[in-house]
Amino acid sequence: VPELPEVEFVRRRLVRWLKGARIVGAWAGDRMVVKGTAKSFAERLSGRTVTGLGRRGKWLRIELDDGTLLFGHLGMTGDFRRDGEPRFERARLLVELRGKRAVVRYVDARRLGRLVVATEDIPTWTKLGPDPLLEGIDPAALSAKLARRARRTVKEVLMDQTVLAGVGNIQAIEALWKARIDPRTLASALSTEHVAAIVAGLHWTIERTLADLAKGDDGEKNPFMIYGRKGTPCPRCKTLLARIELGGRTTTFCPGCQERIKARQGTRARPRAQRPRTSP
Ligand SMILES: [Zn+2]
Repeated sequence: VPELPEVEFVRRRLVRWLKGARIVGAWAGDRMVVKGTAKSFAERLSGRTVTGLGRRGKWLRIELDDGTLLFGHLGMTGDFRRDGEPRFERARLLVELRGKRAVVRYVDARRLGRLVVATEDIPTWTKLGPDPLLEGIDPAALSAKLARRARRTVKEVLMDQTVLAGVGNIQAIEALWKARIDPRTLASALSTEHVAAIVAGLHWTIERTLADLAKGDDGEKNPFMIYGRKGTPCPRCKTLLARIELGGRTTTFCPGCQERIKARQGTRARPRAQRPRTSP
Protein backbone atom coordinates (compact mmCIF):
# COMPACT_ATOMS: atom_id res chain seq x y z
CA VAL A 1 0.00 0.00 0.00
CA PRO A 2 1.59 3.28 -1.07
CA GLU A 3 2.50 5.68 1.74
CA LEU A 4 4.52 8.89 1.68
CA PRO A 5 7.82 7.39 0.38
CA GLU A 6 6.16 5.32 -2.35
CA VAL A 7 4.07 8.27 -3.55
CA GLU A 8 7.14 10.53 -3.52
CA PHE A 9 8.94 7.90 -5.60
CA VAL A 10 6.07 7.95 -8.11
CA ARG A 11 6.19 11.78 -8.18
CA ARG A 12 9.92 11.79 -8.99
CA ARG A 13 9.33 9.40 -11.89
CA LEU A 14 6.46 11.55 -13.19
CA VAL A 15 8.77 14.60 -13.13
CA ARG A 16 11.13 12.78 -15.49
CA TRP A 17 8.36 11.54 -17.75
CA LEU A 18 5.97 14.49 -17.86
CA LYS A 19 7.51 17.78 -16.66
CA GLY A 20 7.36 20.24 -19.53
CA ALA A 21 5.56 17.75 -21.74
CA ARG A 22 2.44 18.57 -23.69
CA ILE A 23 -0.38 16.09 -23.21
CA VAL A 24 -1.38 15.29 -26.78
CA GLY A 25 -4.10 12.92 -25.75
CA ALA A 26 -5.89 11.81 -22.60
CA TRP A 27 -8.27 8.98 -22.07
CA ALA A 28 -10.17 7.77 -19.03
CA GLY A 29 -11.75 4.36 -18.96
CA ASP A 30 -13.21 4.05 -15.51
CA ARG A 31 -15.81 5.95 -13.52
CA MET A 32 -14.80 4.38 -10.21
CA VAL A 33 -11.46 6.12 -10.30
CA VAL A 34 -11.98 9.26 -12.35
CA LYS A 35 -14.31 11.82 -10.86
CA GLY A 36 -16.58 13.37 -13.49
CA THR A 37 -17.14 12.11 -17.02
CA ALA A 38 -14.47 10.49 -19.15
CA LYS A 39 -15.18 13.02 -21.90
CA SER A 40 -14.65 16.09 -19.75
CA PHE A 41 -11.52 14.48 -18.27
CA ALA A 42 -10.02 14.06 -21.74
CA GLU A 43 -11.09 17.53 -22.89
CA ARG A 44 -9.63 19.33 -19.91
CA LEU A 45 -6.22 17.65 -20.15
CA SER A 46 -5.67 17.35 -23.90
CA GLY A 47 -3.37 19.96 -25.39
CA ARG A 48 -2.16 21.22 -22.02
CA THR A 49 1.48 21.33 -20.88
CA VAL A 50 2.60 19.90 -17.53
CA THR A 51 4.23 22.73 -15.57
CA GLY A 52 4.66 21.10 -12.17
CA LEU A 53 4.28 17.91 -10.16
CA GLY A 54 3.45 18.29 -6.51
CA ARG A 55 2.78 15.92 -3.65
CA ARG A 56 1.31 16.31 -0.21
CA GLY A 57 1.10 13.20 1.96
CA LYS A 58 -0.28 10.42 -0.21
CA TRP A 59 -1.77 12.83 -2.79
CA LEU A 60 -0.17 13.82 -6.08
CA ARG A 61 -0.96 17.06 -7.94
CA ILE A 62 -0.18 17.36 -11.65
CA GLU A 63 -0.20 21.07 -12.54
CA LEU A 64 -1.06 22.24 -16.07
CA ASP A 65 -0.31 25.49 -17.89
CA ASP A 66 -3.88 26.80 -17.82
CA GLY A 67 -4.20 26.33 -14.06
CA THR A 68 -5.96 23.00 -14.31
CA LEU A 69 -4.93 20.55 -11.59
CA LEU A 70 -5.09 16.76 -11.73
CA PHE A 71 -5.12 15.29 -8.23
CA GLY A 72 -4.24 11.65 -7.79
CA HIS A 73 -4.49 9.24 -4.86
CA LEU A 74 -3.11 5.75 -5.51
CA GLY A 75 -5.43 3.95 -3.08
CA MET A 76 -4.18 0.41 -2.41
CA THR A 77 -2.77 -0.67 -5.76
CA GLY A 78 -2.61 2.40 -8.00
CA ASP A 79 0.53 3.33 -9.92
CA PHE A 80 1.65 5.40 -12.87
CA ARG A 81 3.55 3.29 -15.37
CA ARG A 82 5.31 4.06 -18.56
CA ASP A 83 4.65 2.17 -21.74
CA GLY A 84 6.83 -0.90 -21.95
CA GLU A 85 7.54 -1.35 -18.25
CA PRO A 86 7.67 -4.90 -16.93
CA ARG A 87 4.56 -6.18 -15.13
CA PHE A 88 2.49 -3.58 -16.95
CA GLU A 89 0.25 -5.98 -18.83
CA ARG A 90 -1.18 -7.64 -15.75
CA ALA A 91 -2.37 -4.38 -14.24
CA ARG A 92 -5.71 -2.84 -15.07
CA LEU A 93 -5.38 0.16 -17.35
CA LEU A 94 -7.56 3.10 -16.38
CA VAL A 95 -6.12 6.35 -17.65
CA GLU A 96 -3.66 7.27 -20.35
CA LEU A 97 -1.70 10.52 -20.76
CA ARG A 98 0.11 10.74 -24.06
CA GLY A 99 3.09 13.07 -23.77
CA LYS A 100 5.98 13.76 -26.07
CA ARG A 101 8.56 11.74 -24.13
CA ALA A 102 6.34 9.00 -22.80
CA VAL A 103 2.90 7.49 -22.69
CA VAL A 104 2.01 7.41 -19.01
CA ARG A 105 -0.76 5.17 -17.80
CA TYR A 106 -2.53 4.98 -14.50
CA VAL A 107 -3.14 1.36 -13.53
CA ASP A 108 -5.00 0.13 -10.48
CA ALA A 109 -5.93 -3.54 -9.98
CA ARG A 110 -8.27 -2.89 -7.06
CA ARG A 111 -9.59 0.44 -8.35
CA LEU A 112 -9.48 2.17 -4.96
CA GLY A 113 -7.45 5.13 -6.23
CA ARG A 114 -8.93 8.50 -7.22
CA LEU A 115 -8.16 10.98 -10.00
CA VAL A 116 -9.81 14.38 -9.76
CA VAL A 117 -9.56 17.26 -12.27
CA ALA A 118 -10.07 20.64 -10.60
CA THR A 119 -9.37 24.34 -11.02
CA GLU A 120 -8.31 24.84 -7.40
CA ASP A 121 -7.03 22.75 -4.50
CA ILE A 122 -9.60 20.17 -3.42
CA PRO A 123 -10.70 20.01 0.27
CA THR A 124 -8.96 16.67 0.95
CA TRP A 125 -5.69 18.30 -0.13
CA THR A 126 -6.08 21.53 1.87
CA LYS A 127 -7.11 19.64 5.03
CA LEU A 128 -3.90 17.60 5.12
CA GLY A 129 -1.47 18.17 8.00
CA PRO A 130 2.22 19.04 7.51
CA ASP A 131 4.17 16.76 5.21
CA PRO A 132 7.32 15.32 6.85
CA LEU A 133 9.41 15.71 3.68
CA LEU A 134 8.12 19.13 2.62
CA GLU A 135 7.87 20.92 5.94
CA GLY A 136 9.58 18.57 8.37
CA ILE A 137 7.89 17.67 11.64
CA ASP A 138 7.75 20.27 14.40
CA PRO A 139 7.94 18.30 17.70
CA ALA A 140 6.07 21.01 19.64
CA ALA A 141 3.22 21.09 17.13
CA LEU A 142 3.05 17.29 17.07
CA SER A 143 2.99 17.21 20.89
CA ALA A 144 0.06 19.61 20.93
CA LYS A 145 -1.85 17.53 18.39
CA LEU A 146 -1.20 14.33 20.34
CA ALA A 147 -2.42 16.02 23.53
CA ARG A 148 -5.66 17.04 21.83
CA ARG A 149 -6.27 13.42 20.83
CA ALA A 150 -5.43 12.08 24.29
CA ARG A 151 -7.74 9.08 24.37
CA ARG A 152 -6.47 7.58 21.14
CA THR A 153 -3.39 5.42 20.75
CA VAL A 154 -0.22 7.04 19.45
CA LYS A 155 -0.23 4.86 16.34
CA GLU A 156 -3.75 5.89 15.34
CA VAL A 157 -2.94 9.57 15.81
CA LEU A 158 0.22 9.32 13.69
CA MET A 159 -1.87 7.83 10.88
CA ASP A 160 -4.43 10.67 11.04
CA GLN A 161 -3.78 12.57 7.79
CA THR A 162 -4.77 15.91 9.37
CA VAL A 163 -2.01 15.42 11.99
CA LEU A 164 0.75 14.41 9.58
CA ALA A 165 0.29 13.92 5.86
CA GLY A 166 1.49 10.65 4.39
CA VAL A 167 2.15 8.44 7.43
CA GLY A 168 0.31 5.15 7.04
CA ASN A 169 0.30 1.77 8.75
CA ILE A 170 3.80 0.69 7.73
CA GLN A 171 5.63 3.95 8.44
CA ALA A 172 3.88 4.27 11.84
CA ILE A 173 4.87 0.70 12.79
CA GLU A 174 8.50 1.23 11.80
CA ALA A 175 8.81 4.67 13.45
CA LEU A 176 7.38 3.45 16.78
CA TRP A 177 9.76 0.49 16.75
CA LYS A 178 12.69 2.86 16.17
CA ALA A 179 11.43 5.10 19.00
CA ARG A 180 10.99 2.04 21.31
CA ILE A 181 7.36 2.95 22.03
CA ASP A 182 4.51 0.42 22.16
CA PRO A 183 1.87 1.35 19.53
CA ARG A 184 -0.92 0.89 22.11
CA THR A 185 0.42 3.76 24.27
CA LEU A 186 -2.20 6.49 24.67
CA ALA A 187 -1.31 9.80 23.05
CA SER A 188 -1.76 11.54 26.44
CA ALA A 189 1.01 9.49 28.08
CA LEU A 190 3.83 10.75 25.86
CA SER A 191 6.48 13.15 27.17
CA THR A 192 8.37 15.69 25.05
CA GLU A 193 11.27 13.21 24.89
CA HIS A 194 8.99 10.47 23.58
CA VAL A 195 7.63 12.77 20.87
CA ALA A 196 11.18 13.74 19.87
CA ALA A 197 12.04 10.03 19.55
CA ILE A 198 8.95 9.46 17.37
CA VAL A 199 9.89 12.41 15.12
CA ALA A 200 13.39 10.96 14.69
CA GLY A 201 11.85 7.54 14.01
CA LEU A 202 9.57 8.92 11.30
CA HIS A 203 12.44 10.69 9.53
CA TRP A 204 14.52 7.54 9.79
CA THR A 205 11.89 5.21 8.30
CA ILE A 206 10.83 7.60 5.50
CA GLU A 207 14.43 8.16 4.36
CA ARG A 208 15.17 4.46 4.67
CA THR A 209 12.16 3.49 2.52
CA LEU A 210 13.02 6.14 -0.10
CA ALA A 211 16.60 4.82 -0.31
CA ASP A 212 15.27 1.29 -0.70
CA LEU A 213 12.87 2.29 -3.49
CA ALA A 214 15.72 4.03 -5.32
CA LYS A 215 17.57 0.69 -5.39
CA GLY A 216 14.71 -0.63 -7.49
CA ASP A 217 13.93 -3.99 -5.90
CA ASP A 218 10.31 -3.53 -7.03
CA GLY A 219 8.62 -5.08 -4.01
CA GLU A 220 9.99 -8.59 -4.40
CA LYS A 221 11.14 -8.86 -0.77
CA ASN A 222 10.04 -7.20 2.47
CA PRO A 223 12.42 -4.23 2.98
CA PHE A 224 11.07 -3.26 6.43
CA MET A 225 12.63 -3.87 9.86
CA ILE A 226 9.57 -5.31 11.63
CA TYR A 227 6.48 -4.74 9.43
CA GLY A 228 5.13 -8.11 8.26
CA ARG A 229 7.64 -10.05 10.37
CA LYS A 230 5.46 -11.43 13.17
CA GLY A 231 7.04 -14.42 14.94
CA THR A 232 10.58 -13.59 13.86
CA PRO A 233 13.23 -12.21 16.27
CA CYS A 234 13.32 -8.44 16.82
CA PRO A 235 16.42 -7.09 14.99
CA ARG A 236 17.31 -5.12 18.15
CA CYS A 237 16.57 -7.38 21.17
CA LYS A 238 15.75 -10.81 19.60
CA THR A 239 12.33 -11.08 21.32
CA LEU A 240 9.80 -12.63 18.93
CA LEU A 241 7.74 -9.92 17.23
CA ALA A 242 4.00 -9.83 18.00
CA ARG A 243 1.02 -8.82 15.90
CA ILE A 244 -2.20 -7.20 17.10
CA GLU A 245 -5.20 -5.37 15.66
CA LEU A 246 -5.22 -1.67 16.46
CA GLY A 247 -7.94 0.61 15.12
CA GLY A 248 -8.77 -2.08 12.56
CA ARG A 249 -5.19 -2.27 11.25
CA THR A 250 -2.74 -5.14 11.63
CA THR A 251 0.11 -3.89 13.79
CA THR A 252 3.51 -5.53 14.35
CA PHE A 253 5.58 -4.57 17.39
CA CYS A 254 8.24 -5.93 19.74
CA PRO A 255 6.99 -6.84 23.25
CA GLY A 256 10.63 -6.84 24.43
CA CYS A 257 11.91 -3.36 23.63
CA GLN A 258 8.87 -1.20 22.85
CA GLU A 259 7.61 0.31 26.08
CA ARG A 260 3.91 0.76 26.82
CA ILE A 261 4.05 4.11 28.56
CA LYS A 262 1.55 4.77 31.32
CA ALA A 263 -0.11 8.17 31.75
CA ARG A 264 1.90 10.36 34.11
CA GLN A 265 0.45 11.37 37.50
CA GLY A 266 -1.52 14.60 37.31
CA THR A 267 -1.62 14.68 33.54
CA ARG A 268 -4.06 11.84 33.12
CA ALA A 269 -6.85 12.67 30.72
CA ARG A 270 -10.26 13.03 32.29
CA PRO A 271 -12.39 9.89 31.96
CA ARG A 272 -14.97 10.00 29.24
CA ALA A 273 -18.48 10.84 30.38
CA GLN A 274 -20.37 7.62 30.95
CA ARG A 275 -22.82 6.83 28.21
CA PRO A 276 -26.35 5.91 29.34
CA ARG A 277 -26.92 2.17 29.20
CA THR A 278 -29.24 1.03 26.50
CA SER A 279 -31.40 -2.02 27.04
CA PRO A 280 -30.77 -4.86 24.60
ZN1 LIG B 1 12.88 -5.75 20.45
